[in-house]
Amino acid sequence: MEYWAGELGNNYIEGIQHGNVMDSVYNFLKSEEPKIKYPYENLFLDNGAFSIFKNNYNKKKNEVQINLDNIIDIQEKLKPQYTIPFDYPLDPQMNIKNMEQNWQKTVKNIDYWTNCTNLNLIPALHGWNKTSLNKNLHLLQKKDFDYIALGSAFILKEKFKGFFGDRQPNKNIYEAFLYLSSLGKKLGIDIHVFGLGASPLTYHFAAFCEIKSSDSSGYRRKAAYGKIILPQTAERYAGNGSATFGLKTKNGITYNKIFSKDEKIKLAECKCPECRKITKHGYRRWKHLCSDWKIRAIHNKWVMEQEEKISQECIKQGWEIYEHFINKMMEKSSLKNLWEFIKSTKERYF
Ligand SMILES: [Zn+2]
Repeated sequence: MEYWAGELGNNYIEGIQHGNVMDSVYNFLKSEEPKIKYPYENLFLDNGAFSIFKNNYNKKKNEVQINLDNIIDIQEKLKPQYTIPFDYPLDPQMNIKNMEQNWQKTVKNIDYWTNCTNLNLIPALHGWNKTSLNKNLHLLQKKDFDYIALGSAFILKEKFKGFFGDRQPNKNIYEAFLYLSSLGKKLGIDIHVFGLGASPLTYHFAAFCEIKSSDSSGYRRKAAYGKIILPQTAERYAGNGSATFGLKTKNGITYNKIFSKDEKIKLAECKCPECRKITKHGYRRWKHLCSDWKIRAIHNKWVMEQEEKISQECIKQGWEIYEHFINKMMEKSSLKNLWEFIKSTKERYF
């Protein structure tokens, strides 16, 4: 994967260094003078469509009015490296005719943005089965795009209810990614996937599927729920200021129960800006991480960025090297079956 962007929430955490960052037009809809108030290197700006429709669905009275020119205005003022023409996401409740209509509206906006802005555009791709994804991707290629963002994909199997981030990794989602990235490769189109890469495991799976980029607010979400991630490991508990070494707390959470020997070493060796403040001692570092969700967010984001570096290094050396690296990581994981499926499916599509 070329890059992973940490998605921002509404409040900026002091101390986080943002390289690639995902922000949304939605956060600026009411600003008179939209301005990014945090340091960053590259800004990927979402068009806010998903949040606007979600808000309007939940609060029928306070609907956000969709004003395309206002959205363009915000995008132009924030000068992102990439942004997305306003699109109309699909919903699993819709019938095919409504999905087709939404896609036509999305295409109309892609043309509008292309004609009246100088923004660097990544259009959103939507599809409701393999045929429509294939057809719609070809249409974007004809319009000269070489980088697209996967909006919604409802494909491959009936029970597949669409992709809404990687909270529940499953075979259908990864088959959809592999189908699209292999097709993209033939057409010379790179793929961005929204909301993917909340943990090292799902990040490496997506990178192995040859997805070019993704963004995720998972590092923050996990931190807020009292979770930390460690290199090549799923999330671990470090929450709510309750750090206990050996003795059981009410809910039975103890340092010795949570971490394996290897994981304790990983924590003691962590070089993130927060862990570095504490001596190289797993338990003391865990206590520090337990004390504040913002500290956990800084740690989690740093770990994800190291995973990204490792992934890029491995891919440079060859896909076999990367496969070997993930194999090792998955030896004891509960997602081992999913990993085996991804490998065999990649062989079928590529
Ligand atoms: Zn750390």
